[in-house]
Amino acid sequence: MLKKSRVNKGTFEILPKKVLLKNIRVIDNAEKLNAVKSVVIRNDKIADILDKPPASFDGETWEDKNFVLMPGLFDMHVHFREPGREDEETLETGSFTAANGGFTGVACMPNTDPAIDTQEVVNFIREETRDYLVDVHPVSAITKAREGKELAPIAEMVEAGAVAISDDGSPVMNAELMRRALEYSKMFDIPILGHEEDTNLSKNRHMHEGFYSTKLGIQGIPALSEEIIVARDIMLTEFTGGRFHVCHISSKGSVELIRQAKAKGLKVTCEVTPHHFTLTDQVVESYDTNTKMNPPLRSDEDRQALIDGLKDGTIDAIATDHAPHSIEEKEAEYINAPFGITGLETALGLITSELLDTKILTLKDIYDRCVQNPRKILNLDVPKIKTGENANLTLFSQKENWTYNDSISFSKSRNTPFTNHPLTGRSVVVINKGKIFKTPPLK
Ligand SMILES: [Zn+2]
Repeated sequence: MLKKSRVNKGTFEILPKKVLLKNIRVIDNAEKLNAVKSVVIRNDKIADILDKPPASFDGETWEDKNFVLMPGLFDMHVHFREPGREDEETLETGSFTAANGGFTGVACMPNTDPAIDTQEVVNFIREETRDYLVDVHPVSAITKAREGKELAPIAEMVEAGAVAISDDGSPVMNAELMRRALEYSKMFDIPILGHEEDTNLSKNRHMHEGFYSTKLGIQGIPALSEEIIVARDIMLTEFTGGRFHVCHISSKGSVELIRQAKAKGLKVTCEVTPHHFTLTDQVVESYDTNTKMNPPLRSDEDRQALIDGLKDGTIDAIATDHAPHSIEEKEAEYINAPFGITGLETALGLITSELLDTKILTLKDIYDRCVQNPRKILNLDVPKIKTGENANLTLFSQKENWTYNDSISFSKSRNTPFTNHPLTGRSVVVINKGKIFKTPPLK
């Protein structure tokens, strides 16, 4: 019998005709904006960007000296579980979870059931989410049923609106097939989003191979299992002239390989998750199955290398890899529990506490990693804070101190290691497509 967790029901409200975001820091690198401004939204469009707020205003007003306004944040790696595991997440609950975390757009991965490997499933996701505040862009599979055996009908899925191809959750172990996928994807100028893992090195293993796996007696996944496939796919990218994006990089060696590939001028990009730049394999000592994800949390040396990669631009994007799992699946012994944690609602808090407060990154860097780069990688328009543009915005409080707990979640799942973790920085409202979502107060 499934234990149903209580799920908050969200609403995407109609955006009031007039909204004033008053005396807030506005960041938009493309518009060279990094200053305190007042932004007026009228009839869903940005009507004015003012140095001084209007003397009077008869619409909804948001004001706080700690508020930061950016074009809407984008998460290029989420798992919404629909179709197939609607008990864990649906397109709808996933979208509210994204909005609650401060995101106005996501790309959803194809490891659903059935997989996103036909035009029909791409159409289904596009249709279902058409009226949501959150833009949901399907990523379709590289191979049929993500089995790594035969290419999926890529052309028709791209035609239907798939923004990239990926077998995420699984690697494409066959190099010849990956070569053909790269050659094929070039025709549509879409990237391949690679889940990099040599399963021969990782099979039946459950955490990072290192000091703590030895201490805990748990079979470890070596960093090498990721790096060997990153190296292979960089070589294939060079050989084919294709475009490759490495998902959720976790190791020092991967960062270095990508740094070298970029120096060579190859079209290689990558992303990192908040949990990989925040936590290390030491937390597995708790045996909490919410510390189990793939790739696993690695050593502090790896974590430092990820931070260096974020700093010098080797890492292009921050993505959550939001991966909901049911309570009973995660309530297993460590070695039997599935990989994956939720991440949409804690991402902005971790970005602020771990990267902004520590002065590792600036707000302008966050714009690059969370607004612009993920959309550019997926060939999507980057929303702008510019007079006359549609309002697609994230307003967040940079100084709000809070702790995450289940009761404020919109996700159907509860598998996060960040429950009761102190955070700074929280979304206030997101606006897109003529709708507004207000992050509810803490309970
Ligand atoms: Zn993956």
